[in-house]
Amino acid sequence: MIIVGLTGGIGSGKTTVAKEFEALGIPVYIADVEAKNLMHKSKIIKRKLTQLFGNKAYINGALNKRYIADIIFTNKAYLQKMNDIIHPRVARHFEKWVLKQDTPYVIKEVAILFENNGHKACDYVITVIAPKDLRIKRLLIRDNTTKDKIQAIMKNQWTDEEKVKHSDYVIDNIDLKITKNLVADIHKDILKRA
Ligand code: ATP
Repeated sequence: MIIVGLTGGIGSGKTTVAKEFEALGIPVYIADVEAKNLMHKSKIIKRKLTQLFGNKAYINGALNKRYIADIIFTNKAYLQKMNDIIHPRVARHFEKWVLKQDTPYVIKEVAILFENNGHKACDYVITVIAPKDLRIKRLLIRDNTTKDKIQAIMKNQWTDEEKVKHSDYVIDNIDLKITKNLVADIHKDILKRA
């Protein structure tokens, strides 16, 4: 099975692009969504996160996101420890998911792919890019957030330039119609290589 990583900075349009692949019949695994699901469902992850962050990690069984976000934002060692608990389990969950798919390739959407060396586990990488100002504009419409918060996240991500250098395909996601056509071209190309 060919694994195609799909990445891009915050608000670049990864999920929008992922939906286009889905429309072409390609299964998409969204790592952030699956990680969140596992944090809510997996007993072992719940136990380990409670050991790490204390009893306030979950309130009535629901992940206390704000409490954990405050800790990991001020103490990066906790972020690393949390990743060490979650990443291997998401990786295993993904491997099992892949076994159930019967298409020539699958898409794995990962926001922080290069930053965590995840691209090494992919056969090809597609990076979605868009100008920073446009991304901020889109996110301010989509989310209840601020420009400062978005820029703080952007600072922890590789720049588009760095990502592009390491990518097999790049989607400059400005116009949705052009993006759709690019997805169709990339799809054909990957099928040729499969
Ligand atoms: P995140 O990093 O937060 O997961 P993302 O990279 O998955 O975001 P999307 O959620 O796909 O980005 O897109 C961000 C917002 O921009 C969404 O509201 C989406 O509808 C809008 N958007 C994405 N691409 C385009 C486009 N080409 N034209 C107009 N709006 C777009």
